[in-house]
Amino acid sequence: VLSADGEGGPRDAGIDPASRPRKDDPRAIRRVGVIGGGTAGYLTALALRAKRPWLDVTLVESTGIPIIGVGEATTPSMVPFLHHYLGIDPDELYRAVAPTWKLGIRFDWGPHPDGFMAPFDWGSNSVGVLGSLATQGDINAFTLQSLLMAQDRAPVFDLGDGEHLSLMKRMPFAYHLDNARFVRFLTELAAQRGVRHVDATIADVALDADGWVDHLVTGDGDRLDFDCYVDCSGFRSLLLGKTLGVPYVPFTDSLKTDRAITAVVPHDGRIKPYTRATTMDAGWCWTIPTRDEDHVGYVHSSQFLDEDAATAELSRLYPEAHRFKTVRFRSGRHEECWRGNVIAIGNSYAFVEPLESSGLMMITLGILSLVGSLPASWDDPAPRGVVNAALAKKWDEIRWFLSLHYRFNTRKDTEFWRDARSSTDVSGLEPLLEVYRGGAPLRFRDPIVRGFLEATAPTFYGLAGVDCLLLGQGLPTRLLPMTEPVESWAARKAAADSLVAQALPAEQALAAFDTEPRLNAELLDDEDSWVVRSGTE
Ligand code: FAD
Repeated sequence: VLSADGEGGPRDAGIDPASRPRKDDPRAIRRVGVIGGGTAGYLTALALRAKRPWLDVTLVESTGIPIIGVGEATTPSMVPFLHHYLGIDPDELYRAVAPTWKLGIRFDWGPHPDGFMAPFDWGSNSVGVLGSLATQGDINAFTLQSLLMAQDRAPVFDLGDGEHLSLMKRMPFAYHLDNARFVRFLTELAAQRGVRHVDATIADVALDADGWVDHLVTGDGDRLDFDCYVDCSGFRSLLLGKTLGVPYVPFTDSLKTDRAITAVVPHDGRIKPYTRATTMDAGWCWTIPTRDEDHVGYVHSSQFLDEDAATAELSRLYPEAHRFKTVRFRSGRHEECWRGNVIAIGNSYAFVEPLESSGLMMITLGILSLVGSLPASWDDPAPRGVVNAALAKKWDEIRWFLSLHYRFNTRKDTEFWRDARSSTDVSGLEPLLEVYRGGAPLRFRDPIVRGFLEATAPTFYGLAGVDCLLLGQGLPTRLLPMTEPVESWAARKAAADSLVAQALPAEQALAAFDTEPRLNAELLDDEDSWVVRSGTE
């Protein structure tokens, strides 16, 4: 998502002088109002200040309307976004937010008792998926990162005398960000970086003759005027949905969950380096480690399970769970994210249930789109059509990718899962599934077939992601033959195992990063680091 290959890369994501408003232009965009103080609102406001520092940015939020308060597992693109794009000092982030690391998702899913790993290095196939399937019947030994996840370790090594060697720059990873601490941190940073703050409830929105937002009226009767309005009001979708009436496209046929019961669980200092997704009777449960405790959430369908029964089932999985809360949501998107002078980012535009932690990643994509395409003046052509089509396509791709998790999970035989297996709409990926049934992994198929799939199938994470998900769930296929003797695979696996055995448990590796700033500096600055190569400077 954040890669910027070739000449256009860094320039696209940097400060574009052409977007600076011209003097005496009455239609110039100078004042931007960001409505909403969740992660979408604060990240947007910070990005506008970082990349268009001449803008006057005001964030309006209502203390009477709380933020959603979940959204803690991220994807690797968040690391360069925070540190390179927004220029957030890693030491400050570690001190204030104390993130933990995510090497991938561990799915308690499908037919294998150990489930399957979806590591972020799935594209590398570094140990080998065919050898893993041939020798142990599952995909769990297919990359170095999956082996690290299986042992709760991170690729950091103790060299003695307080010295450490880190391979984190060789392996894509993401952060788990404690939501309350993260939003507090962003709030303080926004104030330091010149974002104006207004605590008010928007009670009315006035439109002009063209149907553009003219001004906002607060509950106290104050008037707020901006040139551009970024709707980050969460599921209320105050401007895009409620005021402008941009139609909503529900994803319910593919994604039927609509509630989460969240809670916290003690972890006794053992911090797992992954998000866990565990199949439950009417959905699934996330387990996200923070430094102090695990945050858990049972995502389910209220059609199949009521709140009390969901809470009881979560308590059976985690008897020590406490601080229960209920979160309601819906999966789908609006037809457009940008209409007139309103651009919606975050849940106000679209959301899919959190199975692949796509919320914050899609927020950053919305932000890059806004920063990259907002004109200097409303008299300039604005690429609304392209932005609307491109972001809608991305959201539809995630919808189809997530639908595979429901259609093919054979772990439980409950009413919810029987319904999911028989009726989840996967039609967007049907042509790809036909190819898969004829031979997998897809990434080893004939180049012409692969090319067609990559050009036409809405895979979102590419063929490596689909292979991981379908082979991990044990969906029947004709496995392609290995092209090397199994001994070669076993030698690679033994080398990987020996590296993993020397790697530190995740909590010790994190502690090394807390105390040795050099480790983060080489991760974020070395030319051969994946963070630098992903290019969001
Ligand atoms: P919110 O946090 O809801 O903020 C809305 C803001 O708008 C508030 O500040 C409110 O005061 C303001 N507002 C609303 N109406 C008005 C008004 N009239 N006047 C003034 N202000 C107003 N994402 C991930 O990346 N990883 C995850 O693991 C993940 N897990 C999730 C789990 C669940 C169950 C859900 C529902 C979401 C999850 N997400 C996840 C998504 C993530 O939580 C959200 O995308 C993210 O927090 C952004 O929320 P937001 O800023 O759009 O909205």
